[in-house]
Amino acid sequence: MPHLSSRITSINGGGSDGWDVFYRARAMVAAGEPVIELTIGEHDIGTDPAILDAMHRAARAGHTGYASVPGTPALRDSVAARITQHTGIPTGRDNVLITPGGQAALFAAHVACCDPGDRALFIDPYYATYPGTIRAAGAVPHAIPTRAADNFLPDRETLSNAAIAHNATSLLVNSPNNPTGTVYPRDALEGIAQAAQDHDLWVISDEVYDTQIWEGTHISPRALPGMEARTLVVGSMSKSHAMTGSRLGWIVAPEPVIEKLTDLATNTTYGVPGYIQDAAVFALAQGDPLEDAIMAPFRRRRELALGILGGQNLVGHIPCQGAMYLMLDIRGTGLSGEAFANALLDRHRIAVMPGESFGTSAAGHIRVAMTVADDAFASALGTICAFARTLAPAG
Ligand code: PMP
Repeated sequence: MPHLSSRITSINGGGSDGWDVFYRARAMVAAGEPVIELTIGEHDIGTDPAILDAMHRAARAGHTGYASVPGTPALRDSVAARITQHTGIPTGRDNVLITPGGQAALFAAHVACCDPGDRALFIDPYYATYPGTIRAAGAVPHAIPTRAADNFLPDRETLSNAAIAHNATSLLVNSPNNPTGTVYPRDALEGIAQAAQDHDLWVISDEVYDTQIWEGTHISPRALPGMEARTLVVGSMSKSHAMTGSRLGWIVAPEPVIEKLTDLATNTTYGVPGYIQDAAVFALAQGDPLEDAIMAPFRRRRELALGILGGQNLVGHIPCQGAMYLMLDIRGTGLSGEAFANALLDRHRIAVMPGESFGTSAAGHIRVAMTVADDAFASALGTICAFARTLAPAG
C-alpha cells in the first residue's frame, strides 16, 4: 500500500492517551458485566420525542435532499437570535455556519485560522480531541498548563509567554469547561481577551456547555470589547438538547470568516441533513423550558454530590460550576488518576476517566460524568469516597 499522509497518521500523536479504562469498561459491558459508566458526556435520556417527531415530519414533508450548505436560513436565524439574546452582540444569519456537530466546528475553525505548521494554543486540562483536532487541521498543538489550586484557570502571563514563545496563531478556550466544570469568571476572560489582542490571536471559544451553568454566569469572550472580530464561537445542540447523535453544531464568527468556512463546508461535509436542521429549529423554538428540563438532572446530581463530598475530607473537588462532570482530587490516596480509575473499575465495577486523559495538569484527579440516575449516581459516589479511604495511607 502507498504511504498514508503524515497529516492523517499523526492525528493521534502517539503514546498512551489515558483512555484504556474507558475501553476496558466498554469491553466489560459488552461481555455482559454490570458496570456503572461515569465516563463520557452522554445524557442518560434520549432526544425528546417531540424533537424526533419534528425530524420525522420534516423528512416526510420532503426535506431529504441536499440542504443549503451554510445551513438553512431558518436555522441560521434561530442560532443568530439565540446568540444575540444570550450575549447582546447583534448577530445575523451571515455570522452563522451550521456544522455536523461541535466537533466538526472545532476542526473547521482551526482550518480557518491556522496555516499548516502554525501554533495553536489550548488550555490543559482539555477536552480529549483538542490536540488531534488541531493536528488534523494541519496546525501544531501547544498546551498551556494550569493548576488545580487555581481551579485550572489560565493566568494571563503564562498565556502571553506561550503566545510569544510559539508565535501562536490561535487560542482555544472552553467555558463551561470539560473536564474541570469550571465556569471562567470575567477577569479570566478579560485576561484571555487582552492576551489575544496583545499577540493578535484568534480565539476559538468552545461553548457547547453554555446551558449547563450551576454557579456564576456564562460569558462569551466574543462579547468582550474588541473581541468580536477575532473570535469564533463553537456551539452545539448535543449537550443543550440531548441531541448528541444528530450531529448538529455551529460556528458564529465575522461574516468574511463564515464566507470562507462555507467554501470549506462545500468541499468537505456538504452541509447537514435538512430534516435534522428543521428539528433543531423546532428544538430551539421551545426555548428555556426544554433546555432547563434537559440540564435539570445534572443540577440535581451536582447537589447530591456536594452533600456526599462534604461528608468526608479525603477526596477533594474542583468547584463544579458548570457542565456535566465532577473533577475529583484523589491525590490523598497516593495513586495517580489512572491507577485509581483502574482499581475502581476492577474492585467496584465503576468506570470514571483518569485526569491524565485530559492532559498533564489534572494528574491525580478523576473525572466523574453525572450521567446515571440519581440513586445510582449517589451510591457510586459514596463508593468512590469509601474506596479512596481504603487506599489512603494510614494516619
Ligand atoms: N467540546 C467539548 C468540550 C465537548 O465536551 C464535546 C463533546 N463531548 C464537543 C466539543 C463536541 O460535541 P459535539 O460534536 O457532539 O457537538
